[in-house]
Amino acid sequence: MVNNFVKVKCPDCGNEQIVFKRAATKVLCHVCGSVLVTPKGGNGEISGEVLEVVG
Ligand SMILES: [Zn+2]
Repeated sequence: MVNNFVKVKCPDCGNEQIVFKRAATKVLCHVCGSVLVTPKGGNGEISGEVLEVVG
């Protein structure tokens, strides 16, 4: 099983959000709209601190 979901802390507002690592489009923070994941073809580039791997 590949772990594709991680909990990330938004670098701008501190919101903790579960995001899909292999996102095909940018994942935005629900609170402030900051970009949390930038698509990179495989695993996305994650902005902010990864708190835990969810599954
Ligand atoms: Zn935010």
